[in-house]
Amino acid sequence: MAIRNIVKQGDSVLTKKCRRVEKFDDRLFELLDDMKETLAQSGGVGLAAPQVGVLKRVVVIDVGGGAVELINPEIIKTKGHQQSIEGCLSCPDIWGVTNRPMFVTVKAQNRNGEEFIMDGEGLLAKAFCHECDHLDGILFTKYIIKRVTPEQLERK
Ligand code: ZN
Repeated sequence: MAIRNIVKQGDSVLTKKCRRVEKFDDRLFELLDDMKETLAQSGGVGLAAPQVGVLKRVVVIDVGGGAVELINPEIIKTKGHQQSIEGCLSCPDIWGVTNRPMFVTVKAQNRNGEEFIMDGEGLLAKAFCHECDHLDGILFTKYIIKRVTPEQLERK
């Protein structure tokens, strides 16, 4: 396993649409393991493959309690609304309040290619939306309704 370099906003890799994963092989396992290690070290909640320069539909999310691996994830249902502060490992200086659904259901595959369905609420729902957007080259800054300064963050 290895820590990979996180690509920052301004790099064109973050604006591209990622390809579906077709091969569930050692290269995919290595990518997933590296992404989990990189996420754990970063202190973030989620990481998408384009953020480490790989244009594949692969996401890891950890809202506490261990990382979840999502391959070829698709949002199949959303419900409700939440407004909360959101950030991104690729935009370390930008924080803002965003509008997101409160409940999100995703369909994805695990590292063996088996399909599963997962429900997320609150932070996990927000992470599903944020990370799936990365796979289509969309950054969360698009959804910011109010910017938050680092000073305001510390007071929370
Ligand atoms: Zn992000």
